[in-house]
Amino acid sequence: MPASQLSQPLTELPQIGAQRGSRFASLGLRTIRDVLFFFPRDFEFPPPQVRIDELVDGQTASILGTISDAELVSRRPGRSVFGALVENESGAIRILFFNQPFRAEQLKRGTIVRISGSVKLNGLRFEMTHPKVQIEQDHPQASDDADDQPTAGSRIAPIYPLTEGVKQFELQRLTADVTRLYAKELDEVMPVTLRTDAMTCLMQAEVFDELDASELPSQLPTIDTALSMLHDPQTNSHVQLGRIRFVFQELLAMQLALAMRRRSLTTALRAPPLECSALIRQRIVRRFPFALTSDQERVIDAIAGDMRRQFPMNRLLQGDVGSGKTVVAAFAMLLAVANGYQATMMAPTEVLARQHFQTLSDLLQDSRVRVGLLCGSLTTAERRETLQRSADGELDLIVGTQALLFDVAFKRLGVCVIDEQHKFGVNQRISLRQGGIDPHYLVMSATPIPRSIAMTQFGDVDMSVLRDKPAGRGTVHTYLADEAWRARWWSFVRERLEEGRQAFVVAPRVGDKDESADDEDISSVKHTFESLSNGELAKYQVGLLHGRMHADEKHNVMSQFAEGEIDVLVTTTVIEVGIDVPNATVMTILGANRFGLAQLHQLRGRVSRGSHAGHVAVFIDGDASPKQDERLRTFESTHDGFELAEADFKLRGPGELLGQRQSGLPRLRIADLQNDVRVLEIAREVAQTLIDEDPEISDPSLALLRRQVLSRYGKRLELSDGA
Ligand code: ADP
Ligand code: MG
Repeated sequence: MPASQLSQPLTELPQIGAQRGSRFASLGLRTIRDVLFFFPRDFEFPPPQVRIDELVDGQTASILGTISDAELVSRRPGRSVFGALVENESGAIRILFFNQPFRAEQLKRGTIVRISGSVKLNGLRFEMTHPKVQIEQDHPQASDDADDQPTAGSRIAPIYPLTEGVKQFELQRLTADVTRLYAKELDEVMPVTLRTDAMTCLMQAEVFDELDASELPSQLPTIDTALSMLHDPQTNSHVQLGRIRFVFQELLAMQLALAMRRRSLTTALRAPPLECSALIRQRIVRRFPFALTSDQERVIDAIAGDMRRQFPMNRLLQGDVGSGKTVVAAFAMLLAVANGYQATMMAPTEVLARQHFQTLSDLLQDSRVRVGLLCGSLTTAERRETLQRSADGELDLIVGTQALLFDVAFKRLGVCVIDEQHKFGVNQRISLRQGGIDPHYLVMSATPIPRSIAMTQFGDVDMSVLRDKPAGRGTVHTYLADEAWRARWWSFVRERLEEGRQAFVVAPRVGDKDESADDEDISSVKHTFESLSNGELAKYQVGLLHGRMHADEKHNVMSQFAEGEIDVLVTTTVIEVGIDVPNATVMTILGANRFGLAQLHQLRGRVSRGSHAGHVAVFIDGDASPKQDERLRTFESTHDGFELAEADFKLRGPGELLGQRQSGLPRLRIADLQNDVRVLEIAREVAQTLIDEDPEISDPSLALLRRQVLSRYGKRLELSDGA
């Protein structure tokens, strides 16, 4: 019975005819239930009350009072003047309207109004000319159609999205009435224990910090209370409590779905269990030319723990540029090899693939481990041979660019490492399953993911973070440079080169003739290369690197730079990812307003690798927009990659960073990933605890919640209704 009432069409309500009904329908409001869950997009709070006897000439104020002495002073068309006094216990103020004769009808004696505007002292009396007027209560003889007036403005007003022909006050009235009459019929999905636990955690996390603790209940409000708190709020704490109740519910459903998925991955998939004995660990670590940082140790332990199990590791390793992710990857790969399995590592660019190949080959000199490289510049014969040796199990480690590794076959693949994951796009999962067995996956990213994205789009992934960098790293200084600086900057660069350091110069485009004329004002590497090698840096060896060069040429330039034969590398963002030349300590970024924050930070990472201090100067092309300007200032002042990621998230919004749609999760209706991150964290903890205790959510008191989770997320996350 209740269910049918809730799905009753709005047009069956007394005051709603076909016409209004169709206007409401265009807002998605067809049934009683739709109206109940039509959440306000905002709230309007009444302005603070000011005393008339404390007003100051010129001040803007908002005053509540009763109209006395209303008079249409002059009726001459085009010259009418209406004046009235607004009185309250603190005094009286005069209001004036020119050429608005209708005010005489609206503002009769006895009407209670709120007026806002700028106050002028005229003689001994304060005046407002053409104030904003809000009717709080009509004068006593007002006509009966008062029903169609806005609701009282001295209360908190929920603000709803509007459409053609629907007024704000209509929606305010509709939602308040429907909530009063029908909210009781709704079923509660969160039992009282859950609402109590959630409230305790939310309070501990200071989610309700702005509110007076004495106003807070000991549990989240029930569904009907929460709805009236939103649709007919009496206090500020109503607004917060009502909203957080639904934010929590929405995020809890999502986190339960993700927790169920994490569990199902562990039971549905199989991977080879790879054991890490103390001896194996010691033999691997001994090969590294330095002592591991404690962060690296910790991550390696986690990885060893994952790979020992018989379902695939699914771990994301985040670490700022230069935090030392490569040895962690090497550890995972060598652990597979020690267990008689192969390992592979995918890099987003050939330059990077070659560099990893080199690092691993150096590390494994005089060992029996055989390393192969797969990248675009190999000859057909070379490639065929590498593919064959991989398939035969003659190669233990295969490093390559992602495109090529799609073709490769393995004999016994144990682990797949994906480097600089952000280059591949979020959801591009490669499947290397063979004979029903998956390898373990380790995904690495230098672009830290904001916490809220990590907990949603990567909600089914285990995370590790390398926070502290290997000791002995120089600091990096970042300068926002203006044009007046150019000459001084190049002389600074020359000084560093004289000291034996090397430099990068980065520009946003290549500068080929075929590029569009629109690009002409944007710095290009070709033009910069010409002008620097004939001008400011003529004395030095300047090299050129960009994506349109042949792979061999690129490789040559890179190794000349790494060997120190080239002093200055003028380049596009090809060097953005991973390139490791510790002696390069100076970077000039031209057209920096064209780059995103993450990209700039990646670039900066190239000059923080050695023990010398790094220096980055940032020049812009033309004028930076306010948004670009703010981005560059953030870049200048923030050097921590995680902080930058949060700042970037705030500046750009979640949609732009990693579109929510992209994640395969349905859009959130009330929660806001940017502002509700603390609630999200709690929802995640609560969900994990629930699933740990009751994997199928079979507790009868959670049956409704479970149904909600499955109907919203079941299909998308391939959760089955197991019970
Ligand atoms: P990223 O996380 O950016 O991939 P890398 O793995 O390339 O960083 O490491 C950056 C540099 O730090 C490399 O030159 C590497 O050899 C060095 N390195 C990594 N770990 C350590 C360590 N524990 N002690 C000293 N140097 C280290
Ligand atoms: Mg790297």
